[in-house]
Amino acid sequence: MNLTNIGTVKDILSRHGFSFSKGLGQNFIINPDICPKIAEYGNACKGFGVLEIGTGIGVLTAELAKRADKVAAVEIDERLLPILAETLADFDNVKIINEDVMKCDLHRLIDEEFKGLHVAVCANLPYYITSPIIMMLLESRLPIESITVMVQKEAAQRLCAKVGSRESGAITVGVNYYGTVKKLFDVSRGSFMPAPNVDSAVMRIDINKEQRLDEESEKFFFKVVKAGFSQRRKTLANSLSSVMGIPKERVYSALKSQGLPEAARIEQLDMEKLIAVSAELMEQ
Ligand code: SAM
Repeated sequence: MNLTNIGTVKDILSRHGFSFSKGLGQNFIINPDICPKIAEYGNACKGFGVLEIGTGIGVLTAELAKRADKVAAVEIDERLLPILAETLADFDNVKIINEDVMKCDLHRLIDEEFKGLHVAVCANLPYYITSPIIMMLLESRLPIESITVMVQKEAAQRLCAKVGSRESGAITVGVNYYGTVKKLFDVSRGSFMPAPNVDSAVMRIDINKEQRLDEESEKFFFKVVKAGFSQRRKTLANSLSSVMGIPKERVYSALKSQGLPEAARIEQLDMEKLIAVSAELMEQ
């Protein structure tokens, strides 16, 4: 079944009485060039199990299933299940899990579905929840090797930004702490049905094997990072004292030991300084 043929897609959707949910970020890929490229760049190949987030009608799922040993796909919208039963009928290596990915036990899922396989994540992410999903995947320390995702332009810019720049955010720190990120290719808004208002890009995050901080320090580090970016226009001392209750004097002293002014904002700290300031605050 050609899931990028507009006539075919319209026919399936109307036979199942399906209407797009904007709230769930449902923009399905109809450009035939995109999904094979995501699957190939995204490690969908022999020896790999691929976790997909958000199947839509299965256009990417099918490309992943053609190449990988196994695909486990988490999709929140139960109205898509009868459609997927039809569109993915030819594959016996796909498991659909009808859950909210943010509430799903992904460690267990990977353990159960991908025994003995390398694991990669591939997805055309719902735009309303892009950063929380990427952050959750990273912070859960799942046994995954890469995350290859389509995101909207603004999210792509944040992901590609330099830590310690105005364009950075908590997600920038997240991807650079846990791995390395690169943009693979741009995708125009016309590649989707319905077409969104902005263009997108496909990004790949390769996950580091080694852990930079112990678990406790890592948790504290990301609390500091999220608190700092939740009030990015304030000084770091102000945001950490209001969000985490850390006395400003303690923040001043941690900043000073890194040669930073008391008025420093989080977006002025590069990765090494962020880690050092967080370590000092944790010790005090
Ligand atoms: N992969 C399909 C494609 O490329 O055509 C669909 C991508 S569409 C941008 C995002 C998909 O994620 C939708 O099918 C939507 O229902 C699903 N979704 C939205 N929120 C979700 C969540 N919290 N957990 C799992 N799936 C979700």
